[in-house]
Amino acid sequence: MNVLKPMGVGIAATMSAAMIIAVAFPRSAKRWGLTGIQIGSIRPVGGNTDSIVSPGLDGRAESSTAAEFASGAWINSEPLTLKGLRGRVVLVEFWTFGCYNCRNTLPAVKKWDAQYRDQGLTIVGVHSPEFDNEKKIENVRREVASLGIRFPVVTDNEFETWHAYKVDAWPTIFVLDKSGHVRGKHVGEGGYAQTEQLIQKLLAEQTSPANTISGGNEAMTDKVVKTDEEWRKELSPEQYYITRQKGTEPAFTGAYWDNHEAGVYTCVACGNTVFSSDKKFDSGTGWPSFSAPIAEKSITEESDTTHGMIRTEIICKRCGAHLGHVFSDGPKPTGLRYCINSAALKFVKQ
Ligand SMILES: [Zn+2]
Repeated sequence: MNVLKPMGVGIAATMSAAMIIAVAFPRSAKRWGLTGIQIGSIRPVGGNTDSIVSPGLDGRAESSTAAEFASGAWINSEPLTLKGLRGRVVLVEFWTFGCYNCRNTLPAVKKWDAQYRDQGLTIVGVHSPEFDNEKKIENVRREVASLGIRFPVVTDNEFETWHAYKVDAWPTIFVLDKSGHVRGKHVGEGGYAQTEQLIQKLLAEQTSPANTISGGNEAMTDKVVKTDEEWRKELSPEQYYITRQKGTEPAFTGAYWDNHEAGVYTCVACGNTVFSSDKKFDSGTGWPSFSAPIAEKSITEESDTTHGMIRTEIICKRCGAHLGHVFSDGPKPTGLRYCINSAALKFVKQ
């Protein structure tokens, strides 16, 4: 199967790295009318690292251990390493928010994140920008939030990770097995069924204990279920009262109602990223107020009829913590006001 490439490898090889970036990734590189698909065959458990891709892919041994992520800014998670993700299937997608082909792949990628995250899949979006406005972290954050991306995203402004994976077009997806080996690659849009089948197969594979580091990313990927006693021990009395007993802090007393710094707000109980400073506004109520959560999947809403009122309660989707309520008197365009307790949040400056 032929792979579409925007520029010949031979040409790129004769140019300097700077020229490659300048020349090899024209806007048209993203306009994949067709797709190139290379899904590796499935290596038997405990098998050796035999070649798993069709010949001609840069001559690269795709079954070798995948390169670590180069340093960049992480959105939606703490910095991750492939080593720390051993034991999980990892899907790495190279994308940039301005690329419409990348946007077209998002529904599938987000669906896999929602469907398989709890079964052991971690998706990492490596944001390798094409244009200057795509390099600005605030723009990346805004787009990640507005596109409803909940999986971790790491910026790759210097194209270090891009080059380490020998990528030459957006979007490109790699699927890594639980031992960190690249087992499949897909360039361009489409091939979703094949990629999903590969994810399912790799999730079903067993790994040897030596390759598995348990618990490394538990908090990020799984639902957090704890007993009341455990919560009581872990949280301060105020945090416990608010998150586990649906309490409300007095207005103008919390740490964040008047916080104007840029960053994200995580659930104080489990670390799930729930709100961003991008959507924070001054409501005058004395509670931190947001016009939208960072992603719909980060919270759940439930009807709350306590205290003689009908309100909609906002709950952390990962651990069930009560965060606050949402009202319909917020600013445009959502018209919503998420009224959240400072004590239910932890601010992470960015
Ligand atoms: Zn939580």
